[in-house]
Amino acid sequence: MTPAEAKELKSFMKGLKHRNPHQSEFHQAVAEVAESVMPWYLQHEGMRRAQVLERITEPDRIVSFRVTWETDSGEIRANRAWRVQFSNALGPYKGGLRFHPTVNESVLKFLGFEQIFKNSLTGLPMGGAKGGSNFNPKGKSEREMMRFCHSLMTELHRHIGEDVDVPAGDIGVGSREISFLFGQYLRLENRWGGVLTGKGLAFGGSAVRTEATGWGCVYFCAEMLGHRDESLEGKRVAVSGSGNVALYGAQKLMEKGAKVLTLSDSGGFLHFPDGLGPEQWKAIRELKEERHGRLAEFGEGGEFHEDKRPWAVPCDIAMPCATQNELDLDDARQLVENGTKIVCEGANMPVTHDAAHFLRERDVLHAPGKASNAGGVSVSGLEQSQNAMRLSWEPDEVDRRLRRIMAEIHARCAADGERPDGGIDYVKGSNLAGFRKVAEALRAYGAV
Ligand code: NDP
Repeated sequence: MTPAEAKELKSFMKGLKHRNPHQSEFHQAVAEVAESVMPWYLQHEGMRRAQVLERITEPDRIVSFRVTWETDSGEIRANRAWRVQFSNALGPYKGGLRFHPTVNESVLKFLGFEQIFKNSLTGLPMGGAKGGSNFNPKGKSEREMMRFCHSLMTELHRHIGEDVDVPAGDIGVGSREISFLFGQYLRLENRWGGVLTGKGLAFGGSAVRTEATGWGCVYFCAEMLGHRDESLEGKRVAVSGSGNVALYGAQKLMEKGAKVLTLSDSGGFLHFPDGLGPEQWKAIRELKEERHGRLAEFGEGGEFHEDKRPWAVPCDIAMPCATQNELDLDDARQLVENGTKIVCEGANMPVTHDAAHFLRERDVLHAPGKASNAGGVSVSGLEQSQNAMRLSWEPDEVDRRLRRIMAEIHARCAADGERPDGGIDYVKGSNLAGFRKVAEALRAYGAV
C-alpha cells in the first residue's frame, strides 16, 4: 500500500470508529475489507464521489427487539434480539441467526457486513444480513427452545419475507430451531413461503444444506491445493469446533483421504494422533447434534485437552470452524513454526487481524470465511430457488452445483488476488471480487 493509500485508509477508519464506538468486531471486519479495496477504490474517482465505501459500511437498517419467554418452571425471561439488514443491493437480505450469550450489535454488524461480500462472491442474487439473540441455548429444554423461537418469530415475521429477507441458522440455531421458527411464521402469516432456509427436507428444505458449509469449505481447500498441483490425500488437518461446520468439514476431509487430527468445543479439544475414524465421527455427531453433549464426555478414543485450542498440534492445514477470533497471533506463530501451509476458514473471521497479517508475511495461504465457508449460503440460495420453483433437486444435483459454485468462487479470488510471483492472496482477492460487484450496483442506483 502506498503512503497516500495508507493515509486514506487511516482517515476512513478513524471516521468509522467515531461513528460506531465500542464495536471492535465490526471495526475489524471493515478494516480487513477496506485495506484490500482501498487501492482500487482510490483509482475509481466515480466510486469515491458516490461515497460507496461510506455507504456500504452503514447498514440499511437494524431492528432491535425484546423476546419474552417462559421457563419450564413458569418464570418469565426477557432477551434482546436484532436483525441487521445490511445491504439488499444484490438481492433479498440473506444471512443466519445466532443464539449465543456473546451476541451483540457489534458482532451482528461484523457478520452482516461480511455476509454482503460472501453472498456477492457466490454469484447468486442475495443481499447481506445477520441476526440473533444473546439468549444462551445451553441447558435449555426442548420446550424452552420452542417457546423462545416462537416468541422471537412473533416479532421477526414483520420484517422478513421470501423477497425481502430470508434468515437461516448459525451458532446455536440448527434444524430444530429453524423448524420452530418456520412453524410460527406459518401460523402468523397463513401463507407458505420459503422465508427461512435450512428447513427440514419434508417441508421445503434442500438436500445437502446440513453438510454444505463444511463440504464447501473442503471443496475450496481442494481448489487451493489443486492450484499448487497438490491434493488433500494424506494431509494432516487440525479442525476446531464440533458443530455443523466442523462436523461435516471433518466428514468430507476423511472422504478425501486427509487425516483429521482434532475437533474442539468451548470446553477444550480432542486430539486423534492417528486421525479421526468414521465410527468415532458418527459417535461425535450423535453426541453433539442429538444429545447436545460436551466433547469432554467422549469416551471412544482421542486425548481431551481441557480449555485448550488445537493450534499447537503440528498440521499441514488448519481449519478453524468454531467462532470469531479463535486463532490469534501466538497461534499463528505456532502454526508457522510447525510448518502449516494453509489456513482455510470454516468459521466467520476466526483469525485475528494481526494473525492474518503474520500469516500473509510468512506466505501461509489464508482463505477467509467469506470465500471458503460460502457453501452454506450457496445451498441456502439453491433452497430458495427450489422453493420458488416448487420442486426439489436430488442430493447429487445439489452437491454438483455446490462444487461448481466453490470452484467459481476460487476462480474469482484467484483473478483478483493474483500476486506478481504467481501465488494467490485470497484475502485481497475475495474482498476485492466481492466488493466490486456491490460497489458497482450502489453507484448505478444513484443516491439511495
Ligand atoms: P454450531 O453452533 O453448530 O457449532 C459451533 C461450534 O463452535 C461448537 O463446537 C461450539 O462449542 C464452538 N464454539 C462456539 N463458540 C465458541 C467459543 N467462544 N469458544 C470456543 N468454541 C466455541 O455453529 P456452526 O458450526 O453453524 O458455526 C460455526 C462457525 O461457522 C460460526 O463462525 C458461523 O458463523 C460460521 N458459519 C456457519 C454456517 C452454517 O451454515 N452453519 C455458514 C457459514 C459460516 P460448544 O458446543 O461448546 O458451544
